[in-house]
Amino acid sequence: MAIAKKDLLSLSDLSVDEIQEIFAVAREMKTVIAGEDKKHPVLRGRSVINLFYENSTRTRSSFEIAGKYLGADVVNISASSSSVTKGESLKDTAKTIDRLAPDVIIMRHGASGAHEVLAQNVKARVINAGDGAHQHPTQALLDMFTITEKKGSLEGLKIAIVGDILHSRVARSDVWGFRALGADVTLCAPPTLMPSHAADLGVTVTYDMNEAVKDADVIVMLRIQLERQKAGMFPSVREYAAFYCLTEERLALAKPDCLVMHPGPINRGIEISGEIADGVQSVIDEQVENGLAVRMALLSMMGGYQNDVN
Ligand code: ASP
Repeated sequence: MAIAKKDLLSLSDLSVDEIQEIFAVAREMKTVIAGEDKKHPVLRGRSVINLFYENSTRTRSSFEIAGKYLGADVVNISASSSSVTKGESLKDTAKTIDRLAPDVIIMRHGASGAHEVLAQNVKARVINAGDGAHQHPTQALLDMFTITEKKGSLEGLKIAIVGDILHSRVARSDVWGFRALGADVTLCAPPTLMPSHAADLGVTVTYDMNEAVKDADVIVMLRIQLERQKAGMFPSVREYAAFYCLTEERLALAKPDCLVMHPGPINRGIEISGEIADGVQSVIDEQVENGLAVRMALLSMMGGYQNDVN
């Protein structure tokens, strides 16, 4: 199955059937990754550009390796080493890159909605690897895939997302995806880090972490995004941790087989205790592994069907 829309800007660009198909292909990709020969060259002769205006470890390296395992030529462009530092606009950068005839462009950008500008100015298919506090669709895909692997499905699960919801593109994509697959979602943050429209998202909203994690099947902890915050959103990191760090006592309120997730990078001792991050209920390492499989699946489905899309 090809992905119907040209670009993946928001998770809602995918249908539930397409999401399930991505998971099915990701399962096959896990076998490829586990094998001795990791080359699965379905994108031989295709090219992928990674255009990163913001820092990244997991997302960027997994997209790069995914493209390489699939046999595509992969080029990385980071803002600090490109003409962006000379004042080039995103539109001009997009038009320049498009002349190099890439099949897929993966972009991370600090401005919410920047991908619309890119998508309108290139023939290549665009995948959003994170835009400001807006969307991070491939993180949500790998989160949903990880939960599906562990729990069978998301139907009826109670999932708590805790932390800096206001600045989190992960939370925005996760909420859409978790609900689309049938989960009940609770959002928890200090009032200053909760978006004012949160209750309109079809979720339960609470400022009390104990209430959020009680009987949860899955807890997704989020990083405090100090780089996006204005001063004064909470009194101090120590005070934040006192109310919103995932500790053993708080985790004990959840179901005994509750999964603990975090998109990374982790601030140990701030939003999650180191023991829990490394503990038996944590699937943080599996999230990284699954990120590669899911991105291989997505690239294989988006990189080879350029003429079939609208
Ligand atoms: N890595 C995720 C992102 O890029 C989460 C984070 O940075 O906290 O959005």
